Amino acid sequence: MLNIVKDFLLNLFFILLPIFTIPIWIEQRKVPKHIKQHLLTIFYSFVIILCITIPVGADKVSIFDLRQIPLWLGSLYRGIATSAFLCLVTIGYRSLFEGAGFFVTAVTSVLVMGTSIVLSKKFLQLPSKHRISLATALSAFSGIITIGLAELFHGIPSPSVLLSLTYLLVQPICMFIACSLKEMVYHNIALRKRMIRAEKMEAVSHLAASISHEIRNPLTAARGFMQLLEQHHLSPEKRRQYARIAIEELDRAEAIITDYLTFAKPAPETVEKLNVKTEIERVIDFIRPLANMNSVEVRATLAPFSIIGEREKFRQCLLNIMKNAIEAMPNGGVLQIYVSIEKRRVLIRISDTGVGMTKEQMERLGEPYFTTKEIKGTGLGMMVVYRIIESMNGTIHIQSEVHKGTEVSIYLPLSSSHLPQEVRKAKKIFAVL
Ligand code: ADP
Ligand code: MG
Repeated sequence: MLNIVKDFLLNLFFILLPIFTIPIWIEQRKVPKHIKQHLLTIFYSFVIILCITIPVGADKVSIFDLRQIPLWLGSLYRGIATSAFLCLVTIGYRSLFEGAGFFVTAVTSVLVMGTSIVLSKKFLQLPSKHRISLATALSAFSGIITIGLAELFHGIPSPSVLLSLTYLLVQPICMFIACSLKEMVYHNIALRKRMIRAEKMEAVSHLAASISHEIRNPLTAARGFMQLLEQHHLSPEKRRQYARIAIEELDRAEAIITDYLTFAKPAPETVEKLNVKTEIERVIDFIRPLANMNSVEVRATLAPFSIIGEREKFRQCLLNIMKNAIEAMPNGGVLQIYVSIEKRRVLIRISDTGVGMTKEQMERLGEPYFTTKEIKGTGLGMMVVYRIIESMNGTIHIQSEVHKGTEVSIYLPLSSSHLPQEVRKAKKIFAVL
C-alpha cells in the first residue's frame, strides 16, 4: 500500500512541477503568446510520457497512472489542437508498451478529447471554483470509465482490486489539487499584471496633474520673449530671434506634455545623433532664468561628443537634473556641468553646491512621488530621468553629501560611427605622437 501511495505521489509531482514552474518562467521571459501555447502543450506531453513510463504498481498485474490528469488539464485549458495532440501522444506512447490496457487507453483518451472539445470554451468562461469542481468531476468520470472498460474487456484480477479502487479515489483528489494550484498560480499572475497596469495608470494620471507645474517654465520664457517683442526700438533681426525663441519655448511646453504622458514607454521613437554640447547649451539657456532667480551661477565645461537618442527626451532628462540642482540651492550656489569621455562612454557630470541628500533620500531617489518639496514637487522628475537614461543604454551614478552638494554622473554610449571632428582630430594627433 505504501508503495502505491509513493507511486501516486511521484505521478502527482510530475504533474505539479510544470504547473508551478512553467507559467512563472513564461511570465519572466515574456514568451510570445503563440510560443507559450506550444510550450505548454509540449510540457503536458512530457508529463503524460513520464506518468506512463513510471506508473503506479508496476510490480502488480494491473498498472495505473495519472496520465488522464495532464490530458484533461491540457485539453480543457488549451483547446482543440492541444487536446488532439495530447490524445495522439497518449495513444502513441502507450502503444510502445505491452499489456491489455492499450484498447482502454485509446477509448478513454478519445473520450477525454471529445468531451474537452465540447466543453473547452464553456469551461474557460466558468468561475475559478466551478472550473476546479468540473475538472475534478470529469477526472472521476474518466477514472470510472477506465476501470469499467478494463473490467468489461479483460476482467480486473483480484490482486488488483485494491489498486483499482485506490485509483478511482486518488485520481479525482489529485486532479482537485492540481487544478486548484493551477488556478492559484494563474490568479496570482493575473493579479500582478493588473497591479502593474494600475500603477502605470495612476502614475499617468498624477503626471497629468503635474504637467501644469512642469510647463510653467517654458510658458514663462515664451511670455518673457513676447513682452520683449513689444519694445519699439528692436531691430528686425532681434525681433525675429525673440519670436523664434518664443515659438521654440511653446513647442517645448508641448513636448513636455507629450513626454510626460508617454513616460510609461520611454523607448526611443525618433532616435537621432545628438551633439551633447549643443543639447546641454540649449537646456542651460532654458534654465538660466531659474538659475538667475535663485542666484545660482552656471559653469559649463562642454565637449561636442555624439550620442544616440531622442532629442526631446534627452533635454527633458538634463532639465530635470539641473532643475533639481537649482532647487537644492535656494540661497544661491554653483551649478557645474562637465562633459568628458571615459572608456568610450560620454560622461555628463552635473553637480551642485546645494542642500545634498541623506542616505535614506538617496535610496528613495527615482521612486515615483518621492519628494521633499511638499506641494512644490511632483516626485516624478528623477523617475523620468532613470527611464530615459535606461532607454538610451546609459547608466547613472549619484553622490551626495548633506549641506555639501550633489553630483549626478550620466554615462552614455558614444556614437562611434559619427565621431565629432574634435575627437577625430585628437585621435590623429595621438596617432602621430
Ligand atoms: P521633485 O523635484 O518633484 O521633488 P524629483 O524626482 O526630481 O522630484 O526629486 C525627488 C527628490 O530628490 C527631491 O524632492 C529632492 O529631495 C531630492 N533631490 C533630487 N535632486 C537633488 C539634488 N540635486 N540635491 C538635493 N536633493 C535632490
Ligand atoms: Mg525635480
